[in-house]
Amino acid sequence: MTTKQKTRAAVFAFMVAFLAHEAVSAQTRGTLDLQQLPALAKPDDPAIPAKELFGRRPMPAPLEARVIGFYSKGCLAGAKALPINGKTWQVMRLSRNRNWGHPNLVQFLERLADKGPKIGWRGLLVGDLSQARGGPMLTGHSSHQIGLDADIWLTPMPDRELTRREREEMSATMMVAADRKDVDPEVWMPTHTQIIKAAAKDPIVERIFVNAAIKKALCREAGNDRSWLHKVRPYYGHDYHFHVRIKCPADSPDCRPQDPVPEGEVCGKDLDHWFTDAILHPKPSLIPSKPKPPLTMADLPPACRQVLLAP
Ligand SMILES: [Zn+2]
Repeated sequence: MTTKQKTRAAVFAFMVAFLAHEAVSAQTRGTLDLQQLPALAKPDDPAIPAKELFGRRPMPAPLEARVIGFYSKGCLAGAKALPINGKTWQVMRLSRNRNWGHPNLVQFLERLADKGPKIGWRGLLVGDLSQARGGPMLTGHSSHQIGLDADIWLTPMPDRELTRREREEMSATMMVAADRKDVDPEVWMPTHTQIIKAAAKDPIVERIFVNAAIKKALCREAGNDRSWLHKVRPYYGHDYHFHVRIKCPADSPDCRPQDPVPEGEVCGKDLDHWFTDAILHPKPSLIPSKPKPPLTMADLPPACRQVLLAP
């Protein structure tokens, strides 16, 4: 290879930090010192985890935008990038190359970011969306596979452009108190409720995941308009960011929707079990020690093969 080709290969090849066995979340650092993934010895081997294949496709499949499969088992054609800088948002952890989504997701994020300043939230710090062709990822997330999920930090955007290094190394704010039973009043602000409410009220949003302690605060602060609370679901983790999931797009007949969100606010007593000892301090014996085997191409919808192999 010539030097020019090498440089181009270095630019276009998917670069990744050695974070392999670490869960990737808002507080996990990225790196400026990217290492190129080595080529696969047998890329056609059906036993190869799909994440190894999708993790090596740094650019979108040049096809019409189309979601294929389910949030945790699928892929994405014709992805669009959320620009890394907007007036009211900045993308974090650029080294992960995960600012790709269905055009509906990109538009939703721009719309939400634009609403921010009107409710006292200067702008969004945006974490992971999906890979350029969606699919399973080498690190973190079992969902985020079809360009319809986005993580948004619970730290508002500062009033300046963050440097590349800051975007890799800056930490999101831990919002949950040390006893895990409520938010930390030192860092939680009424505007947190407002920005999550603004997201939940967007008709395209299917559901939002937050930590149960955060849900408790939302229930307390929602006031009279409680129409959006059912969309905000308590979940493990999600104490530094909230996770927005949008609906299957009309252009994607192969997108498999999730069962509708059940009725009910999920407040008060409905949250109690999240604060029991069994959930807050699970016995090690109850934590599965063996991870599930990774998804292969055979586990994904057949159309994902075309998405993976498109030029
Ligand atoms: Zn997420």
